[in-house]
Order: sequence, then structure tokens, then C-alpha cells
Amino acid sequence: MAKNIILTGDRPTGKLHLGHFVGSLRERVRIQESGSYDEMYIMIADAQALTDNADNPEKIRESIIEVALDYLSVGLDPNKISMFIQSQVSELTELTFFYMNLVTLARLERNPTVKSEIKLREFNNSIPVGFMTYPISQAADITAFKANLVPVGVDQLPMIEQTREIVRSFNNTYKKEVLVEPEAVLPNNEVCLRLPGTDGKAKMSKSLGNCIYLSDPSEEVKKKVMSMYTDPNHIRVEDPGKVEDNTVFTYLDAFCTDEHFAKYLPEYKNLDELKAHYQKGGLGDVKIKKFLFNVLEEVLTPIREKRKIYENKIEEVYNILERGSNKAREKAQETLREVKEAMKINYFEDKELIKSHIEKYDKGE
Ligand code: ATP
Ligand code: MG
Repeated sequence: MAKNIILTGDRPTGKLHLGHFVGSLRERVRIQESGSYDEMYIMIADAQALTDNADNPEKIRESIIEVALDYLSVGLDPNKISMFIQSQVSELTELTFFYMNLVTLARLERNPTVKSEIKLREFNNSIPVGFMTYPISQAADITAFKANLVPVGVDQLPMIEQTREIVRSFNNTYKKEVLVEPEAVLPNNEVCLRLPGTDGKAKMSKSLGNCIYLSDPSEEVKKKVMSMYTDPNHIRVEDPGKVEDNTVFTYLDAFCTDEHFAKYLPEYKNLDELKAHYQKGGLGDVKIKKFLFNVLEEVLTPIREKRKIYENKIEEVYNILERGSNKAREKAQETLREVKEAMKINYFEDKELIKSHIEKYDKGE
């Protein structure tokens, strides 16, 4: 039976937020706990983060430990999975270099996620080559582990498609089924595909400063929730309100359960009842925001507590990352060896090649 191998990761450009949690982290932990996988690798993508932060390596360096702490605090378990740092597995860079020959510039320029990120970063005509090609490096990350499942947010779908194309192209060109085509694992809940920021903007993103971080203290979360974007036309309590594109309701869709109602808002049975009341009018924003705050606190309190424990064991966290990086390197080395063999650039191991050249020049004498 085919193996289930999972690879995902995050850019160490800051701490992780609720978007990461619903888009990918929660799914990773679920898979980890289900035990329905053979190998799982979680990568801190520092090399990728440097593609648009070349002038600020200190930010990346500082964020690696933050991301690792966030991983451990949501329940990713180093005894069950390997957590590693991308730049410490140099085989990934080598694979990227070979895959570059299988992708056209026009193909890279069509990637919608990269396009919108270029706009966001205001690169204009000064796009770093490394940034433009990061989807290829992502293909290297995924294929190095022969991952078939990649739990990600919806913005990553173009990267998975690009990876699948590279896999097909590689296996066709070099006539050997070395690489494995991966599939994205998306969250079931529609709103979790791309959680909006607290400002109601398209996506909660470190780069946009509209995040609730997993490590935010309680008071900070309260402040952010109380100033969240709702329905701008819902001015007085008695006004009917809109729940679509109302960020508070989007977050409730992502996080709240019927048990939360029983505990914090027993006058409603579930979210449908709350929405109906809001749409009819007579329900104020403060009330729904207070409820959301309670719901988020239930999610975040155990995460914060676990983080505290690991914050006091930083050396152990670095050991976890080092062990994970060693394990990841072993696996990537194995794939790189097969890749070079398929490409026939394993000159010193290819005894046939050497023999044939001896014979060629023997004849010439
Ligand atoms: P940056 O601004 O540096 O790109 P980011 O906040 O977009 O940071 P990434 O490290 O690029 O975060 O994304 C890591 C993973 O989290 C990806 O799988 C991505 O799809 C997912 N993700 C990020 N933001 C969200 C979001 N708002 N909703 C759902 N998933 C998200
Ligand atoms: Mg991103």
C-alpha cells in the first residue's frame, strides 16, 4: 500500500496567528492524532522567507524559535513528527536548481498567489529572482520527502499545482517514476480556507498587520476583538445587520460550537439562531464580540499555557529542531540520490559510464 507522507510548513516572518491555526495547524494536529500517516515533516521555511527579506535576516532568525514554540504549543508532537529548518537541509536547494530547468518563466508569471504577493510587496520591476522562483523551491520541499499530502490554506493551491507539473515533467523527462504527485489537504470548513484579518481584509496575514496571534495575551485579544470589523451599516442595536462579510460572524463560523452557546450564551441554541437575531435587528455588536472573545479564549488558553512551558525550555526546543533537521536531511539525501541517478548525473557511482568511456578510448588507440 502507498505510504501517507505529509509535509507542510510556515515562513518564519513572525509569530503564527489564527489564520494559520484554522487553515493548516489544526488539520496537522488532527492528522497527527489520528495516526493515519507514515511520516510527517513540518518545515520552518527560513530560506523561503529570505526571498523577500534578504535585507532582514535578523527578523527570520528571531522568528524561527517563535514558530517552533507555536508549533509545540498547538500540540504538534516531536515524538510523532519531524520539525526542521529548511536551510539546514541543503539538498532542498540542489533539487530546486535541477527543477528550475523544467519550468518556464511564463509559467511562474501566471501563478496568481505570487502575482498578488508581488503587488502587496510593491516590488514593481524589482522582483528578486529568488522570490519569483519560490514555487519551484516549494516543489523541492514537497518532493524531497515524497509527500503525497500537504495540509495548507487555499492560497497554496497554485503551489501544489506547480509541484504536480514539475513531478510529471521530471518523471517523463527522465523516464523514471522517482517523484510523487502531492495533493493539498484543505480544511472542510469553507471560512477556514482563507480566514480574513480583524480589519475584514481578504486574508489574515503577518504582512498585513491584521492578526490575532496564538501567543497574544488575553487583554490583547480582547482589544482586537472589540475593535473588529463588522457590518458598517449596523449602527443602532435595533438595526438589522448583515452576517456575510461580517468578520465577527466569520470567526464564529470558524471557531464556535454548540457547547460554547450552552456555556456563554445559553439564550441561543446555536450559531444559526444568533445569526437570525442579528439579521432581524435587536442584537448589538458588543454582545457578539464578547461571545467571540470567550470562544477564542477557550481555544487560546491551553495554547498559551503550553507555550509557557516550552518558553522555559528553549534549549530543548533547539534540540528538537536539530534532531528534526537531521532526520529530514537523511530523507532528502535519499531522494536527491534517486533524482541524480534518474538524470544520470551520478557520474562517480555510474560504473557503466566509466567502463564505456574506457572502451571508447581503448578503441581509439
Ligand atoms: P507572510 O505574510 O509572511 O506570507 P502568512 O501569514 O501569509 O505570512 P505563511 O507562512 O505564508 O503565512 O502561510 C503558512 C500556511 O498558513 C499556509 O499553508 C497558508 O495557506 C496558511 N495560512 C496563512 N494565512 C492564512 C489565513 N488567513 N487563512 C487560512 N490559512 C492561512
Ligand atoms: Mg504567505
